[in-house]
Amino acid sequence: RAKEAGRNQLQFYEAAMHSRISERAMIEAELRHALARDELRLHYQPKLDLRTGAVVGMEALVRWQHPGMGMVSPARFIGVAEETGLIVEIGRWVLRSACFQNAAWQQAGLMPLRVAVNVSARQFRDPDLSREVQAALSDSGLDARYLELELTESLVMHNVEGAVAVVKGLKQMGIALSIDDFGTGYSSLAYLKLFPVDYLKIDQSFVREMLAEPKVAAIVRSVIALGQSLGFRVIAEGVETAPQLAYLRHHLCDEMQGYLFSKPLPPDDFGALLREERCLALPSDEVPGEQQ
Ligand code: C2E
Ligand code: MG
Ligand code: MG
Ligand code: MG
Repeated sequence: RAKEAGRNQLQFYEAAMHSRISERAMIEAELRHALARDELRLHYQPKLDLRTGAVVGMEALVRWQHPGMGMVSPARFIGVAEETGLIVEIGRWVLRSACFQNAAWQQAGLMPLRVAVNVSARQFRDPDLSREVQAALSDSGLDARYLELELTESLVMHNVEGAVAVVKGLKQMGIALSIDDFGTGYSSLAYLKLFPVDYLKIDQSFVREMLAEPKVAAIVRSVIALGQSLGFRVIAEGVETAPQLAYLRHHLCDEMQGYLFSKPLPPDDFGALLREERCLALPSDEVPGEQQ
């Protein structure tokens, strides 16, 4: 019986492994055609000022609508795109689309906002990056100050000297820069001072746990204080509840992003949100649960 169970288990693992490999292979094969078949879209998630409640920016997040697989989340394909190098082409498309869309909103008379684009490790190491950023700006007519690039911590900490040079070059073009998922990579506080970035984004895992875990709350408060004393604005990601919002406001976090206000939206819906001038309902300043 044990032998049989063992055999079943083995078959199960083989099947699971096989299906995982074939899923990856399928994603890779299909991703090669995604751009040519016009299957990629950008959704936009608002970033809000925690003091005023106003929308002050947005993050462009890629979506892949595959005819057979349905909506494939970036978690399932960005890694594959990175490993295969397809990310360079996809990243260029994301950058250009975000700049053109933002310029179009401005031309339609909406309040000018910055659009943030995620940059992967491979793109960041690509010597053509700054030329492509420049081209996206001049072709779309978007002013550099309305573009922001989100870099992850591990990406900039990997080769600090090289990364500092790239970041400085991008800064000189007048675009904004942020460090995404802050606190999840191996951050070196000593290196942080070398990067002329504008924003630190507190990773959503901290926001999710902060009201239940006093130590996580302490980390969040420290990142806000540290970030601000180094001259960065601090953004909290993944804000889903009113108590999280109240806590972040109480501790003077600068901006937030999260389902509490809005999920990432297709461009038409995001445009409507801007036209309606929707903003964050700011409740009383009391801090529920955890104190100090
Ligand atoms: P990220 O840049 O940290 O983006 C934030 C993710 O959190 C997004 O997931 C967003 O939809 C999700 N999110 C926002 N608010 C909430 C919330 O309140 N609760 C929860 N649970 N989640 C929230 P998404 O769109 O699935 O993207 C996942 C990751 O994929 C991104 O993390 C980013 O690392 C990567 N990604 C997405 N688009 C691009 C892209 O165009 N280029 C590159 N290189 N990476 C991208
Ligand atoms: Mg991001
Ligand atoms: Mg993030
Ligand atoms: Mg993330």
